[in-house]
Amino acid sequence: MSTAPAAELKLYCAGCGIPATKVKPNKDGEPKLPRGFKPWKQIHGQPYCHKCVQSLFLLRALQIPVGTVLSAEDSPELEAPVQGKDGQEVDPNWIKFRKAMAKAWRQAREVANWHLTYYKLHDIERTAEMTEWPKETWTAPKGTYQASIARFPASQGYTSDLLASVAQSTAGRYRSKRWAVIWAGTESLASMLRDQPYPVRTKGWSIRVDPNDAEKVVIRVTIAKERFHFTLRLGAGYNRQWKSLRQILSGAAERGPLELLRHRRNRVVICKIIGHFPRESDKQHVRPRKGDFVLRTDAESLWYGIYENADQPFIKHGDKLKGLLANRERRLLQNSQNLHHEVRVPARRRRRVVKEQGKSLANLRDQIKQQLAQYAATVVGFANRKRFARLVYDDRLQTYCERLPWYELSLEIAWRCQKAGIEFVKKADLEAALKREAKQGE
Ligand SMILES: [Zn+2]
Repeated sequence: MSTAPAAELKLYCAGCGIPATKVKPNKDGEPKLPRGFKPWKQIHGQPYCHKCVQSLFLLRALQIPVGTVLSAEDSPELEAPVQGKDGQEVDPNWIKFRKAMAKAWRQAREVANWHLTYYKLHDIERTAEMTEWPKETWTAPKGTYQASIARFPASQGYTSDLLASVAQSTAGRYRSKRWAVIWAGTESLASMLRDQPYPVRTKGWSIRVDPNDAEKVVIRVTIAKERFHFTLRLGAGYNRQWKSLRQILSGAAERGPLELLRHRRNRVVICKIIGHFPRESDKQHVRPRKGDFVLRTDAESLWYGIYENADQPFIKHGDKLKGLLANRERRLLQNSQNLHHEVRVPARRRRRVVKEQGKSLANLRDQIKQQLAQYAATVVGFANRKRFARLVYDDRLQTYCERLPWYELSLEIAWRCQKAGIEFVKKADLEAALKREAKQGE
């Protein structure tokens, strides 16, 4: 290859073919991917412009629990199970992994908190002379990385990968808080009290199918120079994740970084894989719609749905919605009672009380509206995933919760069905139409 002068460096998008503007060379003289507000991305070894990345790929995260920790390649002999405190056998590999993770999470938290403080220390201060919030977007101050290495040296077990990933993720967090902290003064810089997820960069992990079992996926990660191999717990209900993992294994999807998260439940570690997955823009691959989803309200639950070839009925409870509605009812009652006692107070005070009451009720009303939308979205999302052609809805039984705005809920479902392309019919209308037809036939 000839060494072209820097001015002639060209980079073309593999998707649409447009050239990148202002391409700079890296230290090997090859063109660097443009960064900044609309960054280019390297996917399948090809450069893609921001627009193409958005239209051709979908950035998604898979969260799958870690199954069993296998012995490392470096120490092939399996260690014998040891006796735990309660007399049960404990897997020594798991103990090792848990210990390494506990340390890693602590490190991630330290580094994250340090970065937030560092950013704040080296940022501008609001002064009395300032009349406007500076427009330029904030970037991490120069020298952050050097300072972080000095504080967290590799000799104490901190890897440069950890420092770099955490610097990036905390920068985003800081940027979003900056206005409120420095300018508005409505917030203070939050410190991360809980353990942070441990980030592993793309090069720090690999994935393969278990040679002994095609139904198992083995992940290899390096946590602070220690290498671990573990399987993913891909049991029932993880079909979608399996599909995406197969795309990663086949190379159809481009894997990105990985994060190891602590689950609320102890002894569970979640492996979060981030990647660029091909968007299924081809409508040919989409299964055609067919069949009815018959959904009715129930006395025991909010909804009871049945459909052909169902293993079990679709049941959805509405406890949260019920709680909110009960809250609202109680609040309304209290408000009217309170006003009774306020009858003989000055009008100004009374107006203030009414205003306050209105505010808190509006808040509740918003929450209820949000919940209604969420419930409707769940139902329509389910119907869409199952590719039903029609949703037959019956909400004549309203004993589950009498104060529920059933009509609004049905409108919400109807609207979402229309958006998804599912026909929405009320069972009552369907029955009436059948009756009419029967009458005409006579
Ligand atoms: Zn493009």
